[in-house]
Amino acid sequence: MQQLSDLKSSPQFTSALKIDLEKKNFTRQVNHAHFSLAETKKPEDPKWVHISSSFLKDYELEGGDHEKLLRQLSGAEKFNGFESYAMCYGGHQFGHWAGQLGDGRAINIAELEVNDKNLKFQLKGAGPTPYSRRADGFAVLRSSIREYLCSEAMHHLGVPTTRALSLITTGDIVSRDILYNGNPKDELGAVVCRVSESFIRFGSFEILASRGEKEELKQLVDYTIKHHFSELGEPSKPTYLAFFKEVVSRTKDLIIHWQRVGFVHGVMNTDNLSILGQTIDYGPYGWLENFDPNWTPNTTDLENKRYRFGRQPNVALWNLTQLANALYPLIEDVEPLQEILQEYKKEYTVGFHKMMCQKLGLTLREEVKEEFITQLEDNLEKSQIDMTLFFRKLSSEKALDFESFWSILTETTYLGDEELTAEKVHWEMWFENYRELIQKENCNSTERSLKMKAVNPKYVLRNYMAQLAIDAAEKGDNTIVEELYQLLLKPYDAQPEMEKWFVKRPQWAMNKVGCSMLSCSS
Ligand code: AMP
Ligand code: MG
Repeated sequence: MQQLSDLKSSPQFTSALKIDLEKKNFTRQVNHAHFSLAETKKPEDPKWVHISSSFLKDYELEGGDHEKLLRQLSGAEKFNGFESYAMCYGGHQFGHWAGQLGDGRAINIAELEVNDKNLKFQLKGAGPTPYSRRADGFAVLRSSIREYLCSEAMHHLGVPTTRALSLITTGDIVSRDILYNGNPKDELGAVVCRVSESFIRFGSFEILASRGEKEELKQLVDYTIKHHFSELGEPSKPTYLAFFKEVVSRTKDLIIHWQRVGFVHGVMNTDNLSILGQTIDYGPYGWLENFDPNWTPNTTDLENKRYRFGRQPNVALWNLTQLANALYPLIEDVEPLQEILQEYKKEYTVGFHKMMCQKLGLTLREEVKEEFITQLEDNLEKSQIDMTLFFRKLSSEKALDFESFWSILTETTYLGDEELTAEKVHWEMWFENYRELIQKENCNSTERSLKMKAVNPKYVLRNYMAQLAIDAAEKGDNTIVEELYQLLLKPYDAQPEMEKWFVKRPQWAMNKVGCSMLSCSS
């Protein structure tokens, strides 16, 4: 076992790419560089909230000297001498080019070789950087708990994601206007250490292309291919195309996962899409409860709902188109890029259909028509059925007749009895079709149940659950953080002692801030 706190850095990103020659930490435009040095702000009084034992186990690490680790992961002390840095990127926010954004409150504190991987350790909320624009560079406990728990939950759901290693309160006070209505409140500051092989985003390429910095663009693309897509070969136009194709494919797979588990990212700006196809930047995300393709948790997006659940596949394509534009200077041929983008639509449709079949315990075949899935989605929406509960209860071993199916619906709807009964005819039609398809499956109900339970999680981090953890933690009680962390390590397991989390969203959470709606203020 290696001691994390003692590991010496093996710089990969910083040794290969271009540093900003300005060394002072003030807000500015950073040209002709991929990153800037940035020191973390020393926290007033750092205290552990949580450390991911699962992360440590996965990488065969031991925390080592806990006091030293606390100082390292809170930004109080350099990670064994490593020069910390912030990355330069731009982005399209809500459909508009926003220019330079960059790591405004994320600081990379270490690059470590662990289990043959070069992992980047990044503190979110550790103070201002050259990219902080008008903001403060800090993060509050509320949003940090949400990022920490959800990153690890997503990993255990089998959804590609950045990981979270630790959550620490800083002892500093951070002021936030949560409803953006001119009423800022003092909140507890916190820092999450998140980890990935790379935090490069679509926007990392966009900023260089937008500035006509072709040399730096080529450096970044070549670096990304060499370290993260090495199977594609040496840099060349065909390799760049193969790279784009692979990013398109990974992004498509990611979105299919999101749709499978009912995750709504909430801010799918191009600066929030990882080049590795991981979920990144957990802000005002949410989980579908009543199945509503038009739902977005993000209050900033309520008007247009650009990033609503049902739109995520299209937005990903729109974002990939921006990435294609950014890579164009190295390829100088529109047609093959367009062809790859066209493929996305086809492959997404096939992949989504396959995934929905799996959720229903069906094998992909001719007879399972697209309309059958669309009809289900339509029924789920109109009957306001809780997505997670529905698919999980459907995964039970019991032989399915309409009566037991109907009781699943009555248990999982947010509608009253009468309103649900009004939908019954639609369900009868759909169920008849489903029953026929199931009968033709070459597998018994026990096998089917096992397969379905492997893709239909029992436990997800509903907004109200995170909020309960936050409310307690803000009063100094971290037990719910711990309980949810443990629960979400095994989201597909029955965990009968945890059934209190296998329920519909409670009534009190309907209109509570943080439960039904979230702002970007974090
Ligand atoms: P997000 O919407 O959280 O992905 O953030 C968009 C941009 O704003 C990124 O460049 C962030 O680094 C930056 N940002 C968000 N919050 C803060 C903050 N409190 N301080 C500095 N920069 C921030
Ligand atoms: Mg972001």
